[in-house]
Formats: sequence, C-alpha cells, structure tokens
Amino acid sequence: DLLKRADIALYRVKEDGRDGIAFFEQAMQVAASERLAIESELRKAFSDNQLRLHYQPQVVYGSQKILGAEALLRWQHPERGLIGPSAFIDVLEQSSLIFDAGRWILARACECIAGLLTDQLVNPDTFCLSVNISPRQFRHPNFVGDVLGAIRQHAIPTRCLSLEITEGIVIENINDTIDKMNELRQHGVHFSIDDFGTGYSSLSYLKQLPVDLLKIDQSFVRDCTGNANDAEIIRAIIAIASSLHMDLIAEGVETRDQLNFLHAQGCDQFQGYLFSPPVDEHRFRELLASGGFAQQH
Ligand code: C2E
Ligand code: MG
Ligand code: MG
Repeated sequence: DLLKRADIALYRVKEDGRDGIAFFEQAMQVAASERLAIESELRKAFSDNQLRLHYQPQVVYGSQKILGAEALLRWQHPERGLIGPSAFIDVLEQSSLIFDAGRWILARACECIAGLLTDQLVNPDTFCLSVNISPRQFRHPNFVGDVLGAIRQHAIPTRCLSLEITEGIVIENINDTIDKMNELRQHGVHFSIDDFGTGYSSLSYLKQLPVDLLKIDQSFVRDCTGNANDAEIIRAIIAIASSLHMDLIAEGVETRDQLNFLHAQGCDQFQGYLFSPPVDEHRFRELLASGGFAQQH
C-alpha cells in the first residue's frame, strides 16, 4: 500500500510538470481509481467499436458555403449515450491507447474524405478535413508514417487532410516538431494551430513552422463583443496571421454579433453553433448536399 500511494503521489508530480514534490492525499487515490476505471472502459469501447467521429462544418463568410470541417471524437456509450471528449480525452492521452485510437481517428477521417469525394459531395481542390492530434500521438516515432499510411490506404489527395496541433506540442520539442511538420508538409499535408492565443508559443517558432491556419480560440470569441481585452487579443491574432501569411478561422462562433465583429476585423472563416454543432457523418453529408447555410443566414 505504501508503495502504491507513493506511486500515486509520483504521478501527480509528473502531471504538474515534473521536478517537484507531492504528498499523498486520499483524494488522489479516488482520482487514480476513477482514471483506471475510465481507462479500462475505454479499452473495451475501442475494441467494441464504440468510438465515433462527428464533423463540425467550417464556413466561409458571404457565400456561407462549407469549405471544410473538423473531425471531433465521440464515445457512443451503450448505456450513457453519446459522450464528448472532455470526459475522457485526458485519460486516453495518458494511456497507451492514444496510439491505437489516434491511428483509428486518422484512418476514419481519411475514409470519410474518400467517401465524400467518391460521392462528389466536396471539391478535391478546396475541401479540407481537420483532425486533432494529441501531443503523445505527435511525438510517436512513427507519427509521420501513420499519417501517410492512412492517406495512402484511402487514396485521398493529401491536401484534403489538415492536422490541428496545439502551441503545447510546438514548444515541447521544437526540433522534432519542425522535422515532422516539414516532412508531412512536403507531402502536401496542411497544419493549423488550435486554440491559438491560449498557449505559450513563441512567434519566432511560429515563423519557422509550415503552419497554414491559426484557429482563434473560442474563449476570445465568447466575449469579443462585450470585453475590450478579448476584442484587442482578436485584433492582435488577426494581425499576426496576416503578417505571417497564414489563414484564419474563428471557432465557437455562436451569435451573429460575434460573426459580424470577427468579419469586420478581417476574419472570413468560421466554425460554431451559429452554423452547426458537430454532427454525425450522415447529417454532415446532408448539409453538404444542401449546399451550406446560405438560406438560413
Ligand atoms: P477543439 O479541438 O478546440 O474543438 C472545439 C470544441 O468546441 C469542440 O468540443 C466543439 O464541439 C466545441 N464547439 C464548437 N462550436 C462551438 C460553439 O459555438 N460554442 C461552444 N461553446 N463550443 C463549440 P468537443 O467536441 O467537446 O471537443 C473538445 C476537445 O477535445 C477539442 O477541442 C480537442 O482538443 C479534443 N478532441 C476532440 N476530438 C479529438 C480527437 O479526435 N483527437 C484528439 N487528440 N483530441 C480531440
Ligand atoms: Mg480542434
Ligand atoms: Mg480549439
């Protein structure tokens, strides 16, 4: 028991960024057993095919056409229904399951793109599906091979796949990040920085990376029409994207006021409940077939 508890405290130190001290507390034990329970349920969910990808449309201002989508992980639980990633993504990321799940997510996304192209629901020259990449998945020595393998397996144009990484991934190991991104970029894979503005990325790093798109985090979008600081941060992010020649998309857009504010500042691409929540593939196909959101907005 003593060793077990020491191990739990050690885990907390690692979680807090290593190089520290933690004393065992009972609450840590509860958290640790919860994590273990979710992890073993997740393993079963994975082998029983309970994981799903949902798709949230990304829309261009003016025409309101769907120019792409973000693939978002869901867990179709037999008793609890559809569960969002915030309830399990940390556990997934901390267990070795993230590698198999990450490969599955990439394969599923490429399969979806291939189907949309076959059925001519999207244009291969403009459509792009973005997939969230977790830090450990990115650090895996065979990450580049996994991505290219999924693309080849489903014979899709490389430019139709975009990988969303966070500022955390970039600064964790800059040399590895640059090498992997450049290799994938040479094959035509696109990159975006997710939740931009919430991390600690250095602009000089950003300049060295083959990043195509910055995603303005929803925490700034939420109050952009009422909070002068958030409005200023958005203006600054838009200026950075423009001087580094990167595209921009705002996420978490829920109201017309937010849309109009962002557009007035120079942002033309949007993702959020104002247009559509993440939907299953069937519904996403219906949205594509109907030609976007022009009628509603
Ligand atoms: P994210 O990549 O920043 O995804 C955006 C989140 O905002 C999604 O939450 C989406 O459903 C939500 N959202 C979209 N529009 C709106 C809006 O108008 N208002 C509000 N309030 N929220 C909106 P979700 O699906 O729960 O995903 C949460 C996070 O989990 C993602 O944040 C991403 O970091 C992670 N995640 C999701 N799918 C995957 C995956 O396949 N792999 C990995 N590694 N992480 C994933
Ligand atoms: Mg994302
Ligand atoms: Mg985000």
